[in-house]
Amino acid sequence: MAKRIVKRSWAENFKIKVVEPIKMTTREYREKVAKETGYNTFLLKSEDVYIDLLTDSGTNAMSDNQWAGMMIGDEAYAGSRNFYHLWDNVKKYYGIPYFVPTHQGRAAEHLVSKILIKPGDFVPGNMYFTTTRLHQELAGATFVDVIIDEAHDPANLHPFKGNIDLGKLDKLVKEVGAKKIPYISFAAPVNMAGGQPVSMANIKEVEKFCQKHGIKMWLDATRAVENAYFIKMREKGYAQKTIAQILKEMCSHFEGIWVSAKKDLMVNIGGILATRNKRVFEEARNLVVVYEGLHTYGGLAGRDMEAMARGIEEMVDFDTIKARIGQVEYFGKRLMEYKVPIVQPIGGHAIFLDAKKFLPHLKQIEFPAQTLANEIYIDSGVRGMERGIVSAGRNPKTGEHNMPKLELVRLTFPRRVYTQAHIDVATESVVAVFDERKKIKGLKMVYEPKYLRFFQARFDKLK
Ligand SMILES: *Cc1c(COP(=O)(O)O)cnc(C)c1O
Repeated sequence: MAKRIVKRSWAENFKIKVVEPIKMTTREYREKVAKETGYNTFLLKSEDVYIDLLTDSGTNAMSDNQWAGMMIGDEAYAGSRNFYHLWDNVKKYYGIPYFVPTHQGRAAEHLVSKILIKPGDFVPGNMYFTTTRLHQELAGATFVDVIIDEAHDPANLHPFKGNIDLGKLDKLVKEVGAKKIPYISFAAPVNMAGGQPVSMANIKEVEKFCQKHGIKMWLDATRAVENAYFIKMREKGYAQKTIAQILKEMCSHFEGIWVSAKKDLMVNIGGILATRNKRVFEEARNLVVVYEGLHTYGGLAGRDMEAMARGIEEMVDFDTIKARIGQVEYFGKRLMEYKVPIVQPIGGHAIFLDAKKFLPHLKQIEFPAQTLANEIYIDSGVRGMERGIVSAGRNPKTGEHNMPKLELVRLTFPRRVYTQAHIDVATESVVAVFDERKKIKGLKMVYEPKYLRFFQARFDKLK
């Protein structure tokens, strides 16, 4: 009998109009360049990478509509038309009245931290993000992780592992007093936990708590559209709402947001600071002139702001976000067929390999995730990044390594860039390394920069 179709497939909601050739390399060549670049995938040249899953930050393919928008960039120093288009869309889609453009997300974090934090303050957040926490610390705050415990367990299937634990938050308020907490640094979803979302119910609960104690809520809305998608799929009462409605509802609970436009907005550069607080807005609009550029371009070209404005319109399209998260899901499910240990549930932007389970014979100080990212690169030219002890940095007070519970390799999907065949190649490479895992030796750090060390640290192989 002829084979029958049991399940219908879906495909991405775009077709390819422009292509960028990629170089194929040999294993021998990759061994050489990995050594030369200190076994840090951030230090590889992009042309030596076959499938680049380092990050989804700024690596997106823009649409023809966005490229068309680039041609109508108004490069006036002051009052660019594209700035006003972008501002309109920030109001319309995030639902927040005041807006300051920045060159990327961390620049908005810098301004928010400078404006809201006093030295000696405490900033609670759900897990942490590297640049976010650093700016909070540079402004004089101590960051306190108040994410639910489930987030630290890669195998736990909680549908909203990004949620804040009200008990932990309450404990902090009791210890230090609400006056020392300028705001909650809420991320939705949580990048470092594996792209795990936050539920609307949790946002509302935390808001209630914060209102009682007079604490502000700020949202890292960098991938808020992915969070909105998970709310639609998983949370009761949201199945019939549009992504745009859910995004706006999420943001309605916050005094302000910062966004790295290099993610959800499907552009290559850009950042957003938006707030309902006029005083914060005015201060940010003033400070942006010091650090970024005039408040109508914030370090961006007019054409970049036009691409962002159009990206906002595209990002809330259901089929676009479904195709994006669908690719990640496909990759995760294929790896699970081969019993490769990954963080579950599968997150929105990336697959996170559980390096502690993958390489149980390595101690954390032998950098298992860093090692694994390198082994995958050497096997196939697929580039991922470490999200473990190297990324966690050192405790600023004691100088000791932070020892995160999660020791992960992140394989992140640029939006609209790769096909399912690329995903199959990446799957087979991870499985090939998994089959040889017992032979893999760890690394030692031979150079350590002071800030965000994971970007520039260098390693050598342990004998
Ligand atoms: C990328 C990112 C940032 C920082 O944004 P940049 O544009 O890289 O400066 C902040 N928060 C989250 C969750 C991110 O993923």
